[in-house]
Amino acid sequence: MFKILLFYKYVNIDDPRACMYEQRRLCEKFGLKGRIIIAKEGINATLEGTEENTDAYLKIFLSDECFKDTHIKRSVGTGDAFPRLSIKVRNDLVSDAFGVELDPTKETGKRLAPEKLNEWLEKKPGTFHIIDMRNDYEYRVGHFDGSILMDIKNFRDLPQALAQIAHLKNEPVVPVCTGGVRCEKASTLLIKEGFKDVYQLDGGIVSYMEKYPGKDFRGSLYVFDNRKVMNFTDPDKHVMIGECDICQKHSENYANCSLDTCHRHFICCENCQNNQNGYSFCSQNCQERYFTENPVQAGIKSVV
Ligand SMILES: [Zn+2]
Ligand SMILES: [Zn+2]
Repeated sequence: MFKILLFYKYVNIDDPRACMYEQRRLCEKFGLKGRIIIAKEGINATLEGTEENTDAYLKIFLSDECFKDTHIKRSVGTGDAFPRLSIKVRNDLVSDAFGVELDPTKETGKRLAPEKLNEWLEKKPGTFHIIDMRNDYEYRVGHFDGSILMDIKNFRDLPQALAQIAHLKNEPVVPVCTGGVRCEKASTLLIKEGFKDVYQLDGGIVSYMEKYPGKDFRGSLYVFDNRKVMNFTDPDKHVMIGECDICQKHSENYANCSLDTCHRHFICCENCQNNQNGYSFCSQNCQERYFTENPVQAGIKSVV
């Protein structure tokens, strides 16, 4: 049985490089694969391994004074959710180019437990706003009913995009993201920008779906590993809301645009993918540009 661990912690790490070596030693010892980002401001990780090995890893990880109260989210793995182990030191946990100095350990949005959000959704809908801080391709495959999508292509564009929700400055806002790591920063930014009543969904969407499978959140949760999407409901009850960018049929299959200069990650159903002779183009425009720039491939394609 494989398990996937998802966790982050904003905490001061004096020597990120030493932490990286220690993490590499630990992960290799237990045969874990996945991604870890380490920065002076903390750690952000998704790791997969057998149940036994992930438990053994956590026992050591959580015994570290720095990380002892880290909230760990577990889900069922596949054994090949990650091709390898990648551990990197970065300047910032979620975006190296935010351009604003933010420290969630000093000031951040009020933590709203999944139970509390569930209660709010039941008892006082419409009196607060769920703001989805993820990318559009994540939102499109699943999101909270009635949530607002920040129209950004990348998390680092958030500061410029805040004008879209400036009219909500005096109302309760609840930023949400996959596991919570982006909302620590997003909620801090909202406070800095003058939002008066800022929360953040504690443990992220994944924690909410775990507690309330199939409730309030429609569709599937996009995840950054080979599973692509995850669900907590049984397959018969699952409602698919993702739509293929090309034919608009329901799909949760993703592709990257074959045009190098675009490379957009988009929903592309298996059918459309098969119809493109092994290519996947997110638009007619990208397809035309690709074959203008690569006439040889166009020649091969016409033979096919
Ligand atoms: Zn399609
Ligand atoms: Zn494209």
